Amino acid sequence: MHKNDIDNWLAINNLQKDATLRAMESSLRVPIIAQSVDLAPAVGPQVDAEQAWSLATSALLDFLPKIAGMILHTSNAIPRCLTAREGTGEQGARARPFTYDNGPGHLPFVSCDYRGSAADILDVVHEFTHALQIVVSHGDPMPPVARETCAFLGEAILIDWARRHRLTLAEHLDRAWQDAGAVYLGPDADALSRALHGASAPYDYRWNYPLARLAASALLREGNADDVVALLGSGSKAPANLARFLVGAAPGSLPPLSPPTASPVDAYRQVGAITLLDLQTGHESDQTSIGERYDRLLDCMRKQTAFIALGGSGNPVGYALWRSRPGDASAFAVDCCASPGEEETLMRALQSAVPQIAGHVRIAARDIAKGRADD
Ligand SMILES: [Zn+2]
Repeated sequence: MHKNDIDNWLAINNLQKDATLRAMESSLRVPIIAQSVDLAPAVGPQVDAEQAWSLATSALLDFLPKIAGMILHTSNAIPRCLTAREGTGEQGARARPFTYDNGPGHLPFVSCDYRGSAADILDVVHEFTHALQIVVSHGDPMPPVARETCAFLGEAILIDWARRHRLTLAEHLDRAWQDAGAVYLGPDADALSRALHGASAPYDYRWNYPLARLAASALLREGNADDVVALLGSGSKAPANLARFLVGAAPGSLPPLSPPTASPVDAYRQVGAITLLDLQTGHESDQTSIGERYDRLLDCMRKQTAFIALGGSGNPVGYALWRSRPGDASAFAVDCCASPGEEETLMRALQSAVPQIAGHVRIAARDIAKGRADD
């Protein structure tokens, strides 16, 4: 009954099934819970909804001066409701932000259940960019993968702007971007892959996010502001515009390094951090070839079974990789490594971020101590 939903989705977005699968599988899933016990910012970004709207305006004006008029028109004229919704508590289900396209000749409407978190600020610029795209495309409706690519570009442009003008805000936004990415390129990518592999699944709007996220990253890496303007204005022709950015990833390629001010959680750095710790401690150095080691790290990143602990100044001080023991999904074989003297930091960080794994490290550590005593 749902068998054709994925084919319809591919057709609407002008995508080939094989190429789409390749793009999904060659991408590194945004990984891992890399965090430190003391890196979490103590206070929120302290930006109210209209300030968030202004930040979106400033960042987009800065990056896309050629369409300054349309950005200002969007900023000033778009009807919007950015207030926190009644009746949904902190834990309650939040109203999803949305942009409603009122059709050619009419301005879209933006809605955001804004509470002031970094994720909410990204939601505002995301919806702002949806609205801007509708204005710049003059109402010619854009297919959903391209539409979401535009909105993610807006988010990335704001983060980039914040890195240059509001560094603390940039750190908050960067973390929110990484957290959201872990969902888009984790569970959402898995759901899309399953549907592409022929599992009968009803259309889910979230299918659009993984490819859009990859396309936005590729476009910012390989394209420029003119490419962004062209995409925003391309309406129903957007898939042709986007195609070259969707097939760019070579199998097994790593994403580029983030700028130095980005929070230290991107995949490339994580491979580097783990390798560096291996070199520093002599861990793994003589048992495994580089190729085997790389495959193992990549596999852990895709499965989100790698963890890097950061020290007080944000430097990596230890890591853990794990996999389920065959035949028992609740038992894990954990491979741990910490810089000398940082064992406790690694344990504390593991305990706070992935307690189910920390428990197994404790057991493993006791087993090692016992083994040594017996020698
Ligand atoms: Zn969106």
